[in-house]
Amino acid sequence: MDFSLSKEHQALQAKAKEFTEQVLYPHEMECEENDGISKETHNQIIQQVLDWEFNAPNHSKEDGGQGFSIFEQTILNEQLGGATGAIWDALWYPSYPMRFASPQQKEEYLIPTCQGKRRDAYAITEADAGSDPSQCTTRADKVDGGWRINGEKWFVTIGDIADYILVHAHVDGDVNKPTVFFVDKDLPGVELKRTPLYTHHFAFKHPEYIFNDVFVGDDKVLGEVGQGYDMTKDWFVEARLGIAARCVGAAIRAANEANEYAANRVQFGQSIRDFQAVEFMLADMAVEIMAAKSMLYRLSWDIDQNNDRKMNHARAAALKLHCSEMVCRVCDKAVQVMGGRGYMREQPVERLWRDTRVDRIWEGTSEIQRVIIGGQIKKRGMEIYTGW
Ligand SMILES: Cc1cc2nc3c(=O)[nH]c(=O)nc-3n(C[C@H](O)[C@H](O)[C@H](O)COP(=O)(O)OP(=O)(O)OC[C@H]3O[C@@H](n4cnc5c(N)ncnc54)[C@H](O)[C@@H]3O)c2cc1C
Repeated sequence: MDFSLSKEHQALQAKAKEFTEQVLYPHEMECEENDGISKETHNQIIQQVLDWEFNAPNHSKEDGGQGFSIFEQTILNEQLGGATGAIWDALWYPSYPMRFASPQQKEEYLIPTCQGKRRDAYAITEADAGSDPSQCTTRADKVDGGWRINGEKWFVTIGDIADYILVHAHVDGDVNKPTVFFVDKDLPGVELKRTPLYTHHFAFKHPEYIFNDVFVGDDKVLGEVGQGYDMTKDWFVEARLGIAARCVGAAIRAANEANEYAANRVQFGQSIRDFQAVEFMLADMAVEIMAAKSMLYRLSWDIDQNNDRKMNHARAAALKLHCSEMVCRVCDKAVQVMGGRGYMREQPVERLWRDTRVDRIWEGTSEIQRVIIGGQIKKRGMEIYTGW
């Protein structure tokens, strides 16, 4: 058994680290001070992403992406996760369900998105539909030649820069017919409601949109009517792995920053790392990261070897839960090791501490991950988590 990274994986790891440090880090303070990045910066990063061949890692080369395996995505995402302000989101991962697009939809949406010419946002959440999306009230009604969409969506990440939104709606208001529609943002009836502020300073925004009698043609249904949830199941696995990998990367950067600071900071005539209280915090951080990273690599490798969707879904929930909770503990300690400096927004540890809080909320809260894990233990036994 060989757990070491292959030469190709090591090369990807080095390239992803270089990309993150050279292309993303220089814009972190711009993002922090302006609660986002300028159009000019964004365009520069888009060009760099294309030059470094990191565009659309999750889609096939045939569709204009990089066709990365899950393990390769993990290696990339881990490095990206070190960047603050979610600038990593300027490296686009077009929504997974677009793999189900028709050839015509691929030409119109997926391929130009993979090429960096268009950008999608994915809107499921509503005022009364969060963890339980079956409560969605956005509806699509059949009319001559297409559909009329009415409703409101919240937290539409990158809704500000996306030029089209994949809108999850119930056909005829029927919860059994969840369906996803391509909705171009410039269509009549698509209205920006408001752009709330959040805890983090994110490269892009998470606005709310109203869809007021928006007409879309028959060709705008992604997949089939009623397939809205089926298409997102595999996506949850990829998205949760992506979050877990970025959490590990964020924790590593925070731990490195704290370690370096502890080595150089002198109080009471000695380096603070020689106080056992500080040394123990660093030790705990290292162990937390080591455990999470082992779990991340093992599961990412495992998923590339098998097509057991249910098992992958069950384990991805455990990984997302563990890594998102781990990074918050590690970043909190990093802030503590750095004292008042750790509380300054100009320090990466402060920004990482704030940025990673959302990882316990989006793509399913920690409680929802526990609901999934608990259900799986009941159904298949403890072994699926402990017996591998
Ligand atoms: C910054 C940000 C970006 C986002 N981007 C997007 C996006 O692009 N597209 C999109 O569609 N959505 C997006 N979301 C929405 C996100 O997915 C939801 O916030 C999340 O799923 C939780 O839903 P909620 O906020 O309505 O909380 P609720 O579902 O109301 O949950 C509130 C609390 O109740 C708990 N709870 C709920 N149900 C259960 C249960 N069964 N058992 C135990 N506890 C439970 C939750 O864990 C939580 O603690 C984003 C959210 C944020 C904050």
